[in-house]
Amino acid sequence: MEKEIIRVAKKPGKCPVCGSVRIANYIYGIPEFTTELDRHVDDGRFILGGCCITDDDPLYRCTGCKTDFYRVKP
Ligand SMILES: [Zn+2]
Repeated sequence: MEKEIIRVAKKPGKCPVCGSVRIANYIYGIPEFTTELDRHVDDGRFILGGCCITDDDPLYRCTGCKTDFYRVKP
């Protein structure tokens, strides 16, 4: 089954799929690990997206239904 891709111009206030307000930001590259970052990852506020960056990576993820949100294509 092909996954539906949802594109957003900016971080959604709530998930258009399940209505959750818990939307996490993806972080790409190698972030500087701090206890604060760790806590935010534990909180579900950030998701580590890894260091393999393409030109179409998701920017945000709903932590409720795990839907990824992609940047609107120009
Ligand atoms: Zn959702």
